[in-house]
Amino acid sequence: MTATVAFIGLGSNLAHPRRQIARAIAALARLPGCRLLRRSRNYVSAPVACTIAQPDFVNAVVAVATTRPPRSLLAALLAIERRQRRRRDPGGARNTPRTLDLDLLLYGGRRLRSARLTVPHPRMHGRAFVLRPLADVAPEAVIPGRGLARRFLRRLADQRIASTRTHALH
Ligand code: ADP
Ligand code: MG
Repeated sequence: MTATVAFIGLGSNLAHPRRQIARAIAALARLPGCRLLRRSRNYVSAPVACTIAQPDFVNAVVAVATTRPPRSLLAALLAIERRQRRRRDPGGARNTPRTLDLDLLLYGGRRLRSARLTVPHPRMHGRAFVLRPLADVAPEAVIPGRGLARRFLRRLADQRIASTRTHALH
């Protein structure tokens, strides 16, 4: 079976975010049908589009080679979130504090749209905390239907983000 390269965005701003990210990447590396290819540096980002004060996020992106179909990969991501005690707001509010958020950003060149899964992730092109780490692992990444991912990053200079190598936190 041929593998597809997929990109997964990780974020955490509760309960030792850097540990949450490290644990999630270890879990991804162990997933059957997935091989970890690359991981970005960790970044610290200010919460975007949120109505309540909340801690900064730690974000990263990984590239995997996977033989899992997209829905199955998403189900595995949600299972890892649950294992790391992600609580979902029953009201479905977005951008709330979380121990772990895993988003399927890109799945090869595919475009998918269903009730449970949209790929490319519909908000990725407006998020520096996705595009900056994505540029680490895939500087030439293309968002199907939109174009070169790093082009969008230039428009997001107002979103505060720093590599944790240059910005000590916690
Ligand atoms: P967000 O990541 O935007 O803060 P959530 O993590 O709460 O939102 O995701 C809510 C739902 O979004 C998930 O249950 C999942 O079914 C759906 N979803 C749709 N497309 C994607 C995708 N590409 N990656 C991750 N989740 C997705
Ligand atoms: Mg999510």
